[in-house]
This record gives sequence, structure tokens and C-alpha cells, in this order.
Amino acid sequence: MELAEIGGIAGGGVNRQALSDEEFSARELCISWAEAYGLGIATDDIGNLFFRVEGSEPDLPLVMTGSHIDSQPTGGKFDGAFGVLAGLEAVRAVIDSGVDHKRSIEVVAWLNEEGSRFAPGMMGSEAFVGVRSLDEIKQVKDKNGVSVEDELARLEDRFADLRKLPFGREVFCFVEAHIEQGPILEKEKTPVGAVTGIQGVRRMRVKITGEEAHAGTTPYDLRIDAVQEASRVIEKLYEAFSDIEDIRFTVGMLTIKPNVPSVVASEVLFSIDLRHPSSETLATCEKRIGELVSQSVTNCSADVWCIAEADTITFDENVIGAIEVESQRLNIPCRRIFSGAGHDARQMSYVCPSGMIFVPSCGGISHNVNEHTDQSDIVAGTEVLCATLVELANRLEISSKTESQI
Ligand SMILES: [Zn+2]
Repeated sequence: MELAEIGGIAGGGVNRQALSDEEFSARELCISWAEAYGLGIATDDIGNLFFRVEGSEPDLPLVMTGSHIDSQPTGGKFDGAFGVLAGLEAVRAVIDSGVDHKRSIEVVAWLNEEGSRFAPGMMGSEAFVGVRSLDEIKQVKDKNGVSVEDELARLEDRFADLRKLPFGREVFCFVEAHIEQGPILEKEKTPVGAVTGIQGVRRMRVKITGEEAHAGTTPYDLRIDAVQEASRVIEKLYEAFSDIEDIRFTVGMLTIKPNVPSVVASEVLFSIDLRHPSSETLATCEKRIGELVSQSVTNCSADVWCIAEADTITFDENVIGAIEVESQRLNIPCRRIFSGAGHDARQMSYVCPSGMIFVPSCGGISHNVNEHTDQSDIVAGTEVLCATLVELANRLEISSKTESQI
């Protein structure tokens, strides 16, 4: 709750966007806790933060946990912050109890998961695993023209004494704790979810181009009205994706040019966020969107393109299994669950066996000031995380298998 006061906004939420002053202060607070626990503290060239407790065999590849401390502009207290704080709490418990663990355990706070200020997000984890280059990320600008490069320079100034680690260090396995951001665990009164995978997503843009004209003098038959055509296209798309099971189709952003009340619009640019558990269905739907848009426009011209695509991923069965076994041992109810939202664990799953632990979100609400998770569920999720980290940190090997391979 102390962290939630940094960037706190009306209604109980937080505005702690990546590389903002508020996010810098949140880093300072996490660092002060890590110092108090005696953890090793480090950063890297993209501004990820690492807090480490050494194992008895520190040369072995480490076990990593963590999430993010940045938020949406009107975000809640728990999204991301829970995973970082649960990780810190878990390593504190490991230190206090003196429990044996061969591998070192590191808690990470990934840079810019949300992507609301600098889009797209997941910058820290993508740079760490090499999915996106640091140079490419540095060029990204926010809406005021401030670049990631500018803000990283400011960050380095502020935290000049932190040790820097290279990207791509070998990680034995990664476990991220996070709020569910959906209604299932609460409905089933189950405090812990062992996450089996993350559904794929396509982020697309559609541009409808017409012609500017006077709203009072131009007769209908001479208009090439981008708003009229765009609304027809959007309605057709919603209709087409209303009855496909498990599909999530959203038009969340719309930009109109010139956006003046007395002018027939010359251009509408809108976003499409399309998600589904099956990568094949996503690919088919992406193609269908292109066809539907070109069929639906009559006078205007239309362009459709994809700005980001990520296929559905399946987490490692060994990590999922470890979460289930530790939940059972602690007598904490746990069920398997699939993630509808994206997380940094996606990137980590490309380089090491990975998994996630979900705790319930009251009312399934997230990216909202009313985001809430009950204290008892926070404790249960953190206990399972701690036990899972210790168990994995004592394993000498882990074979990377998915359910279908076992
Ligand atoms: Zn998150």
C-alpha cells in the first residue's frame, strides 16, 4: 500500500507510467526495501531492476520472479506491483527462514510493461531476451515527443551508482505472480491459479480515406464521407466476430481527420485488438478482417495492416506442475487457468521454462482504479510463489516440456 501512494490518484488507483517521476520514486522505494533485506541490487541498459539473494551454488543459472511497477494512467494498485512485491516478500521469507536453496533467486521489475506512455509495452523483457533491440526501443517517443532514450538518460543520472548487468543472462526458470484481471478465480473461490498459457493477439490498424467537404453545402451524392464508411465497416466487423467462441474483438481507438463539426471527414484511423486462444483462429480472423473491410467500403479507400502479432503460448509443464504441487502441500486451493491478458512471462517463455501464478481480481476488474484483491488471496499467492521458487531453486535440472509432450 506504501507503493500505491506513489502516483496515487482519486478513487484509489495509481498513475505511475513508465519512466515518469512517479515510477522513479517507486524504484527508490523498492530499492530501499531491497537494501533493508540485504539483497544484491542491479539494473541493465533498459532500466530493468534486479534484486538478488545468492544461493549456495551461485554459479548455477538463477531462478527469476517478478513483474512490473509501471501502470496505466488510470490503473489499479495491484497490476504488476503485486508480482514485484510478492517476489520481494518471498525472498525476504527465504532469507529469514534460512531455508536451503542452491540457485540464486532474483526478483525483477521489468521496464514499461503497460506501454501506455511508450507503445508498445513489454520493453524491458523484450530487450532482456533479445526480441527487440535496445536501439529500436530508444527511438520510441511519447505523445509529447520525449523519447525512451531521453528518459533512460535521466534514469541513469538518478540511479548512477547501480551496478549494470548484461542482457541475456542465463535463467533457469521464470515464475511471474500477477492478478488474474478476469472473473474466474473469484467466482470459483479459488485463491491461486496455475497459468497454462497466454492467448495470442493481433493489433491492427484500419485507415478509411475519403474527401473533406463542407457539411452544409455538399449534397450526399457528392460526399466521400470517411466517418460514415468507417461506422459501417466497424459495425460489420463486430457483427462478424460476435459469434465465434472465445474471440475478443475490440475497436478501442478512433482518430478522425480533420475532426471538425462542420466538415465531412476525410480520414478515420481505428485500432483493432483481436485475441483468441488458438493461433490458427487468429490467423484466419486476421485475413477475414482484411476481406470484410474491403467488401464494406463503397466510396472510400481502405488500408488494413497489422502493427503487432503474438501467437498463443503454452507455459512449461514442469513449472505449472511445481505450482500445483506446492499449492497442494500448503493446502491452498489451486486450479489451472489460461491468461487472456499479455504479460512479461510471454517473453521469458521464449528463453527458459516459465509459468505464472494468478490471484483473484474482485469483480474481474483491472486497468481501473477499483482493481482489488483480498489480503488473504495476496498472502496465499505469495506463499505459493515462495514455495515454488525454493523448490525450483533446489532442482538441478528442468526439462522443457509442454503438456502434449509428456
Ligand atoms: Zn500487468
